[in-house]
Amino acid sequence: MVRIDGSKGEGGGQVLRTSLALSLVTGTPFTMTNVRAGRAKPGLLRQHLTALKAAEAVGAAEVSGAELGSKEVTFRPRALAAGNYHFAVGSAGSATLVFQTVLPALLMASASSTLMLEGGTHNPAAPPFDFLTKAYLPLLRRMGPSVEATLERPGFFPAGGGKFRVDVRPAPLAPLTLLERGRVVRRDLKASVAMIPFDVAKREMDRANALLKWRPDEVRSEELKRSTGPGNVLVAEVESEHVTEVFTSFGERGKPAETVAEEVASEVKRYLDAEVPVGEHLCDQLLLLLALAKGGTFRTLPFDGHAQTQVDTMAHFLDVKVDVRQVSREVCEVEVRG
Ligand code: ATP
Repeated sequence: MVRIDGSKGEGGGQVLRTSLALSLVTGTPFTMTNVRAGRAKPGLLRQHLTALKAAEAVGAAEVSGAELGSKEVTFRPRALAAGNYHFAVGSAGSATLVFQTVLPALLMASASSTLMLEGGTHNPAAPPFDFLTKAYLPLLRRMGPSVEATLERPGFFPAGGGKFRVDVRPAPLAPLTLLERGRVVRRDLKASVAMIPFDVAKREMDRANALLKWRPDEVRSEELKRSTGPGNVLVAEVESEHVTEVFTSFGERGKPAETVAEEVASEVKRYLDAEVPVGEHLCDQLLLLLALAKGGTFRTLPFDGHAQTQVDTMAHFLDVKVDVRQVSREVCEVEVRG
């Protein structure tokens, strides 16, 4: 039984989700204390509870502490099963994070799986759906498995109600090398609004245009039709020869549209200036995939707390070595060896 102090490092939900993912993959049981002790509302929120229950279902696991607010969890997987699963967060909590919790196990299963996920699909502090389909899943497919996600309905905070489907066809994960970004071949900036004035999208585009100076055919705005509640998201996609990165910011009450644009523009600019293939968020997510593949290397921005917490959590379950070398002020090279 691995014992993990959930307050270590970032002390957030990622420590729990990564532990669940790797416990399923390795069959190693764990107990976690101080779950999300580093967050303003510690313990299990609906998203984490759904991730725990999803992992319980996929691994026929014995679980204790599966309650809202719980700060101590024990998880003992028994048998991994591919299948058709339906997981609903029941709030606007991120359904993409629930998906990423069970995905590694389903990649190792002996048959294909289909997942229906409900909850938030476009959340701050979580991979937005566009990031999943354009940045994360293409890299995963390059490593072997076939994983396709289809959005049925977007779900924003606070209404939630989003829904997407994922088809997972497992294959052994091959190591990935991603040291060069290559030439930028396509840029796309999209402001989307649901049930709020279109003017918000226009203001975001105007400010982003002023900062990024992309061509008119590279920027657009749209009204999202099937959302069950109001929402606003600005997404910038940078497709390069060897990788696509996606940067996102969300509108919220009291936050000027211009600030939304400035957040995305500054992330895009930092990424482009550093000339790395992998941005801040893709980094911690890729680390886990490379650890499962027992190898790989990539260049990214300087390691942050999320990435280091991911490395520390992985070490509880996997015998992999992660070397991080600072190449220059804004560039790190990460190597994972199994
Ligand atoms: P909580 O405790 O509230 O669940 P957490 O500590 O798990 O929070 P983070 O670690 O901040 O949350 O983020 C969760 C995951 O979402 C990380 O893998 C991070 O890379 C990813 N993520 C966050 N924001 C973005 C974004 N804009 N684009 C892509 N991925 C993102």
